[in-house]
Amino acid sequence: MIRERILVIGASGQIGVELTLALRKIYGNNNVVASDLREENDLLKGTGPYVSLDVMNKEMLHVQVIRQNITQIYLLAAILSATGEKNPNLAWHLNMQGLLNVLDIAREEKIYKVYWPSSIAVFGPTSPKQNCPQQTIIEPTTVYGISKYAGEFWCNYYFQRFHVDVRSLRYPGLISYKSAPGGGTTDYAVEIYHEALEEKKYECFLREDTYLPMMYMPDAIKATIELMEAPAAQISVRTSYNISAMSFSPKEIAAAIKNYIPEFDISYEPDYRQTIADSWPQSIDDSVARKDWGWAHEYDLQRMTKDMLENLRNK
Ligand code: NAD
Repeated sequence: MIRERILVIGASGQIGVELTLALRKIYGNNNVVASDLREENDLLKGTGPYVSLDVMNKEMLHVQVIRQNITQIYLLAAILSATGEKNPNLAWHLNMQGLLNVLDIAREEKIYKVYWPSSIAVFGPTSPKQNCPQQTIIEPTTVYGISKYAGEFWCNYYFQRFHVDVRSLRYPGLISYKSAPGGGTTDYAVEIYHEALEEKKYECFLREDTYLPMMYMPDAIKATIELMEAPAAQISVRTSYNISAMSFSPKEIAAAIKNYIPEFDISYEPDYRQTIADSWPQSIDDSVARKDWGWAHEYDLQRMTKDMLENLRNK
């Protein structure tokens, strides 16, 4: 049996912190090396090894992979949808070159498994709005979506051509209380809980009726680990799997919060992110993931709201 040594790139980000902690529980603290361009997140400090690393510096990345005897890489470093629209060149450059650097090193060093997340942002205005299927029209209109779609096909290419066992999920908007979101269009669904507790009011940058696919972070971590642990023979999709848990609008999340904070008030001031949200599906069909490797979500809007408010109150 292989003794796993895992490198998490982008470990100080919204997903990275929680994924690193979850992987450390499974594989042992010292076998999961956290890395990021920015400083180590406070929640990671003292829980295991950390290296400062720029995924764009291929040589440095290669040295670390060899020096740390890495067998699996989780690549989370990226520029997200909203930030990407402000700096399209940087988003394309980091999201593409970072992935190609990791795939190349994985091929050369015979890395056992690679994880790289895609996003619902691959879908565009011409994709079905409801229950958007695994295989459908995919014409993204954001630079982030274009980079994720191209990335999916690079993953498929490295799997087919070089047998790199790279696996991927198209995450919906992710909601968490431990680490802050990093510039996505669904960030409102995190901010709203903080503002509800602190200010009792929130000004939302999306319209009240904007439905988007969403997922609570514990489900996203569970999906990621289950996908990575599934036998290779069960993985039929080598681009990226649709994955889903719930869909709601700002009006509905506000109503769920009002059950706990009756005086909470929401107002709406849509900005450039409305155009991005309008280009995405409102709900996702993830039946292929459910069939292939048994994906099942645990959290809906009500359960997540209760958990978010409890945990933020105790922070
Ligand atoms: P994030 O912005 O919170 O974290 C990304 C981390 O990468 C940051 O800590 C950043 O410092 C680091 N980073 C940036 N450039 C780097 C570089 N050159 N070298 C090393 N590290 C670098 O993002 P996240 O929300 O944790 O997202 C992680 C992945 O999941 C991304 O690929 C993102 O596209 C995808 N995703 C996220 C969501 C979501 O709702 N959070 C939804 C869909 C897909």
